[in-house]
Amino acid sequence: MIRYVCDMCKREIDPIRETHYQVKIEIAAAFDPVEEGEPDDRDHLEEIHDLLERFDVQNEEAFEPAHVVLTFDLCSKCRRSFLRNPLGRGTVRVLGMSDN
Ligand SMILES: [Zn+2]
Repeated sequence: MIRYVCDMCKREIDPIRETHYQVKIEIAAAFDPVEEGEPDDRDHLEEIHDLLERFDVQNEEAFEPAHVVLTFDLCSKCRRSFLRNPLGRGTVRVLGMSDN
């Protein structure tokens, strides 16, 4: 049987007894619109050659992919708190304190 673990509270989710949720966060580089009407007198072959050379030099760790998809499993409780604050802004974690 497939078991899921909530990525926020690390609790195991039993898919038979409760709904398990999947969050996908997609981050893509936002490019400015390409300017039209630019004079096209550049040497394209030369540019491609330069580009390829630059890619050769870059090591894999320094290379940041422009498009990243992160996937998380969440239980219903964490889904609610995620929806309240998806970017985790102003999150203050108070550990070991409960209101009982
Ligand atoms: Zn959870």
